[in-house]
Amino acid sequence: MDFVTRFAPSPTGYLHLGHAFSALTAWQSARRAGGRFILRIEDIDTTRCRPEFEDAIYEDLAWLGLDWEKPVRRQSEHFADYDAVLQSLIDRGLVYRCFKTRKEIAADIARAPHLAPDGPEGVVYCGPDEMMGPDEEAERLARGEHFAWRLSIHRCRDLLGDRFDRLTFTEHGDGTVDHGQVYVRPDRLGDVVVGRKDVGTSYHLAVTHDDAVQGITRIIRGKDLFEATHLHRLLQELMDWPVPDYVHHRLLTDSKGKRFAKRDHAVTLRELREAGETPDSLKRRMNLDSYVS
Ligand code: GLU
Repeated sequence: MDFVTRFAPSPTGYLHLGHAFSALTAWQSARRAGGRFILRIEDIDTTRCRPEFEDAIYEDLAWLGLDWEKPVRRQSEHFADYDAVLQSLIDRGLVYRCFKTRKEIAADIARAPHLAPDGPEGVVYCGPDEMMGPDEEAERLARGEHFAWRLSIHRCRDLLGDRFDRLTFTEHGDGTVDHGQVYVRPDRLGDVVVGRKDVGTSYHLAVTHDDAVQGITRIIRGKDLFEATHLHRLLQELMDWPVPDYVHHRLLTDSKGKRFAKRDHAVTLRELREAGETPDSLKRRMNLDSYVS
């Protein structure tokens, strides 16, 4: 089988050591398998993404010694494709408009905690007790109220029948997450937003679509995205997309044991470079060779 993998950063900040680990793991795995490595820019969040961060991604990855296929797919150039996917979900009644704000959802959950089980990423939203009637929906739309599209797990279950409980994906990770054939449990995430109020798509929808159209066979990424894979696998089934294999790798941590994250202003690759680190010294720090499959 062809081996095609990818690194898919969002240009919302400078890359840090955690990104370098992910990118190098994917790139080296592709080389060892005689496969292909694709770089994709995930810039649907038009308010947070900035061109200088995108330029820095190219510069930092080249400095690390990576090369990738051109042209690079930029998600912001493909909103029409994501709209078409959402439309297909709308046409089949698999998504519904949710007018609630985050605050209102939190209040709903506080009122009826028994209806909102704890999921792997905190409390999950399982949808309203009762779907909004067409009149109220039309009124709210006429008032110009904002809404997000949520995937109804309950309707997906109805559509897929027995198949819903038999969905699996293959995980080749390092054992820090479930390993082998993993049974999919999208209900653990609840009714997730697949079309955001602002951009009409979401990370989940865009990433799963792009992995399908780019023919990705092995998704290599941090284990922080392991739970999201349950939803991605469901979307693949709903859209009849091919199912790649997965490697969810360990997350690098700083000297205090905290994982690197852009929002915490983790030390960036460019700062490390300016401080005299070389790609080789970074690779040694990451203990990369012991990891690549
Ligand atoms: N764009 C996502 C991020 O920067 C990663 C997507 C993925 O690897 O699935 O966190």
